[in-house]
Amino acid sequence: MAPRKLAAGNWKMNGTLAALAEIDQILTEYPAPGCEVLICPPATLVQPMAARAEGRLAVGGQDCHAKMSGAHTGDIAATQLKDAGASHVIVGHSERRTDHAETDAQVSAKSVAAHEAGLVAVICVGETEAQRDGGETLDIISAQLAGSVPDCATASNTVIAYEPVWAIGTGRTPTSEQIAEVHALIRDRLVARFDDGADIALLYGGSVKPGNAAEIFAIAHVDGALVGGASLKAADFGPIIAAL
Ligand code: PGA
Repeated sequence: MAPRKLAAGNWKMNGTLAALAEIDQILTEYPAPGCEVLICPPATLVQPMAARAEGRLAVGGQDCHAKMSGAHTGDIAATQLKDAGASHVIVGHSERRTDHAETDAQVSAKSVAAHEAGLVAVICVGETEAQRDGGETLDIISAQLAGSVPDCATASNTVIAYEPVWAIGTGRTPTSEQIAEVHALIRDRLVARFDDGADIALLYGGSVKPGNAAEIFAIAHVDGALVGGASLKAADFGPIIAAL
């Protein structure tokens, strides 16, 4: 079994009900994509998007709490996302790690919660520009993988997204060699640790656009993309889906 190909969109804090028209367009123009398509909208749109998609594309959350209920104002449980129609949840995105000081241990606990709720955890890792300039990239990625990916991870319940922090929303992307080096390291680490580590899908994320998607998808151990800005409009996300 080879990893499944996945085109994932992360809408971040963008979109209201009117934005669901974008998925109508994607479903019309790409009725039989050659990959799995996932969109992670804001929590308010998970249920209406899942209802609209009727299983024709997967819907995910952007974060979940490590607990399933309780006094945690503003948080959302993995079981609630599942109940709303989600099949996936992003955990450990760099914006969560930065804005909410999330640690690897918390990301791991959130991933466990996702698995217990029956969700696929899309676990994000990535180095900052200072870490890359300092030659620390491979050590940082190894440490984030060791700390953020729980022992219960399998190819069925886990996807890893490599997202260099300096490439997110900046229009800058690593070279193909840089992406290949990190993805090879991630694959090695997963194979060493998990029986089915060779089958866990690895996404690249950070300024993926229609114009660079095909080049990125040609890199070894790149099984898809986690797309931010270019996932908001069907006119951009559609060609990325088609390139995979
Ligand atoms: P970007 O975001 O595609 O806008 O760079 C990617 C992400 O943060 O997942």
